[in-house]
Amino acid sequence: MNEKTLFGKEKNPSNILPTKYTLDSNIKFRCHPGVSCFTECCGNIKIVLTPYDILQLRKRLEMEAAEFLHVYTEPTYLEKTDFPGVTIKLTEEGRCPFIKSKTEGCMVYSDRPSACRYYPVGMANFHEGAQEGQGAEEFYFVVKEPHCKGFEEDKNWTIREWRQDQGVDLRDTMNKGWMEIVMRRKSFGFQATLSEQAKRMFFMASTDLDQFRSFIFDSSFLKTYDVDQETLAKIKDDDIELLLFSYKVIASMLFGTEDIKVKPDVLKAKVESIKQEQNETGKTMEQRAEEDFKEIKKDWVKAKEAQSN
Ligand code: SF4
Ligand code: SF4
Repeated sequence: MNEKTLFGKEKNPSNILPTKYTLDSNIKFRCHPGVSCFTECCGNIKIVLTPYDILQLRKRLEMEAAEFLHVYTEPTYLEKTDFPGVTIKLTEEGRCPFIKSKTEGCMVYSDRPSACRYYPVGMANFHEGAQEGQGAEEFYFVVKEPHCKGFEEDKNWTIREWRQDQGVDLRDTMNKGWMEIVMRRKSFGFQATLSEQAKRMFFMASTDLDQFRSFIFDSSFLKTYDVDQETLAKIKDDDIELLLFSYKVIASMLFGTEDIKVKPDVLKAKVESIKQEQNETGKTMEQRAEEDFKEIKKDWVKAKEAQSN
């Protein structure tokens, strides 16, 4: 089975041409209903949906997030992480449910997922492999599969032109914050296990913006976190603003970034309670940290053992 994922693969598969492309590199390629392989690449694939993909698709199909997820997706773990995500649920024949017909192609074409837009030009991207404080190297690669006749067509583009045509830049902008979170988690490996609560939070924010909006406005979130009025006004009704805000919330809650700050009085109360606990137990912060570290190591050993069984 071919795997088309947003995040590349551990090993370089043989269908990726061993060439680094830049935005000005040329490719000869065209995909259109006249090619004999039309829609062949829309089967036996694993298409991971980003939060923006889900938002666009469910709006296109006029469905609530929960209904869309139930009908058109199935659960997965995002590559090499314990983050729960979704892929498009294929038909029993292993085909994408959005294929209208062999001649008409994709029924959600203008809202097709990011993975479908990138194909066959992938980007090795963001921070993967980058050293602290250094910018990540960005380059492009081309996936050339034997069944794809698009490379035999007489159309030349630069990678830049191809990306413009596919509307990839907007997708990059919308997906970037989320993909950075996934990459960051991936780089942690098995050092720490994510709690079930954190997993649920990540899944909810990534797949169901209506539920995430309720979480922000109807839970104790705003009692704990400092969010200015201007931001609140923006995210109340605007899904795109809420989507971008959700990346900040996830990063803050899971990695302790300062994108969203805890209210000073809540922070002060927390510090006080830690101090009090310290006085009661007689343990210093360092001792507590060491104990936490031992617990994390136990989880790590368990995860490794489970992996090798
Ligand atoms: S969403 Fe459209 S382009 Fe993507 S695999 Fe399905 S039918 Fe093909
Ligand atoms: S296999 Fe290639 S040419 Fe054929 S439909 Fe897919 S992308 Fe287009």
